[in-house]
Formats: sequence, C-alpha cells, structure tokens
Amino acid sequence: MAKVAFLGLGVMGYPMAGHLVKAGHEVTVFNRTTTKAEAWAKEHGGSFGATPKEAVQGADFVMCCVGNDDDLRQVCIGENGAFDGMEADTIFVDHTTVSAKVTAELYNTGKAQSIAFVDAPVSGGQAGAENGVLSIMCGGDEASYEAAESVMQAYGRSIKRLGESGAGQLTKMVNQICIAGLVQGLSEGLHFAEKAGLDGRAVVEVIAGGAAGSWQMQNRYETMIDDEFEHGFAVDWMRKDLGICLSTADEVGASLPVTALVDQFYKEVQKQGGGRWDTSSLIKRLRAMG
Ligand code: NAP
Repeated sequence: MAKVAFLGLGVMGYPMAGHLVKAGHEVTVFNRTTTKAEAWAKEHGGSFGATPKEAVQGADFVMCCVGNDDDLRQVCIGENGAFDGMEADTIFVDHTTVSAKVTAELYNTGKAQSIAFVDAPVSGGQAGAENGVLSIMCGGDEASYEAAESVMQAYGRSIKRLGESGAGQLTKMVNQICIAGLVQGLSEGLHFAEKAGLDGRAVVEVIAGGAAGSWQMQNRYETMIDDEFEHGFAVDWMRKDLGICLSTADEVGASLPVTALVDQFYKEVQKQGGGRWDTSSLIKRLRAMG
C-alpha cells in the first residue's frame, strides 16, 4: 500500500480520497477550507495538512481535484504549493478538468524537479465518485501512469492511458463535446413531448432502449421532467470545460458549431440564475422561451 496525499475535497475529491483509505492506503488530505479537511479526517481516520506543501510530505503519490487552471497552478506551484514539498521520483496525478496548456506547463515544471505529472480527468459525476466507479482518462509518461494506475483503481472502474502528457485532457474535451449536443437534443425531445401533450415518462420508457437512449436520458429524464436541477454537474463547470474545448478546437483546427451554440445556451442558463444547476437544465431555458 502507498503513502498518498489528496488535494481538494470538493464534490468529487471528498469521496475519492475516502476510497483511498478504504483501499488501505495511508492518506493525508489538504483542502483550502480547512473545516472540510477536518470533517474528512474525522470521517475517514486519515490526517490533513494546513497547506499543499505540508500535506504532501513523504507521499509517493499526490492526487488532486480542484477547480480550474488557476486553482491547479496555485495548488502546485503557488506559495506552499505541492511541488515545493514533493520528493524526487514521486508522482502527481491531476484529476481536475483543465486545459492542455496548464498541463504542459506543470508537466515540464515537474520534470525539471524529477516529479512526474499525469493528467487524469474523470467522468462519471458525483455518483461515480461516491460509488468509486469513475472513468479516468490519462496522459503522461508510461511508467508513471502504470505506477499510478493501481492507486486510481480505488475509485476508478475504467482507467486508460491515451498517450503522452495532455492526452487525458484532450480526451475529456471529446467527452464534453459529445455531451453538449446530446443534452440539448434530449432537452428538445422532452420539451417537445411536453408541448405535444405526451406523458414524458411513458415516452422515455419506450424509447430509452432504442437508438435514442443515452446515459443522460437514463439518469436525467426524471429530474428534467420534474424541473429539478439542484444536483449533478454544474453549468458553471460545463462552461469552463466548453471554453477549453472551443479554444483548443481553434488551435487544432477542428470545427465545433453545435458545441459553440450550446455554450451560448448555457450562458443564458447562467443568466437565469442557473450557474450551479445540473447541465440538464438546458430544458429550463426552452421552457422559459414558451
Ligand atoms: P467543487 O465541489 O467546487 O470543489 C472544488 C475543490 O477545489 C474544493 O475542494 C475547493 O476548495 C478546491 N479549490 C478551488 N480553488 C482552489 C484554490 N485556488 N486553491 C485550493 N483549493 C481550491 O468541484 P467538483 O465538482 O469537485 O469538481 C472538481 C473538478 O472536477 C473540476 O475541474 C470539475 O470540472 C471536475 N469534474 C467535476 C464533476 C462533477 O460532477 N462535479 C465531474 C467530472 C469532473 P474549497 O472547499 O476551499 O472551496
């Protein structure tokens, strides 16, 4: 078993770090808001550090799940950052969804200090983190990935290295691009059913097993019909992710017309006050239109 640090105990990180303890690892956590780290340590029996630098002392692996590019930079190379406290030949695994640019920056900074950096964004949402069944898309040096894979198994069900540093984040972008248009399509279908006087539940019952079926349909149709969005993956996070997808598309020369449009729809949901609503709230925008 390994000595592992986990930085960032949000919706995702809190249960992920818990699974590491259950898998038998010796875990020290850090969270910016210390009360959350205290609560985690009380619940799981691990310890916590006051700064990333303190939490990573002696760790073989440092796992991290914070918010965006700037948050990740702060935790890694800011004042009392993790890289200051990590020993040579240890491995940093980043589960945050961030740009390929910050990933390249930190991979190179780490390398200069003999710290390996594996990008490993996740999919599967809060339920996936709580049940320890996340999909994890990885990029980085092969040997570092292989060493980290056994630790990630504590909370991952499908874990794969897609290529060199950055390949995990690029794969996560593909994931978000696929979801954006799909959720809009599902919203339009359920909205149409409502307007046409159909029973949405009965409609889903008959079509979910056919070609229109999807994870989003299976897991979100009921709350969409009931107009409930105080759960799941926040629109603010989705806009961060789609921003990364759209700027990367410019760099690689990909055309993403539907993704760009849905990003604007999410902007309108934010204006409706839905920044923290689940991404399935695209249907709320349609309902507001009449
Ligand atoms: P969250 O609940 O908002 O948690 C964010 C965590 O990052 C908190 O522990 C927060 O600390 C910490 N943090 C933020 N900025 C920081 C900074 N500058 N320095 C130190 N710590 C900082 O977010 P989440 O839902 O867990 O998502 C985390 C990441 O996973 C995001 O990149 C998100 O896009 C991605 N993701 C989320 C989901 C999902 O369904 N939620 C699914 C897949 C991927 P405090 O407690 O002090 O605020």
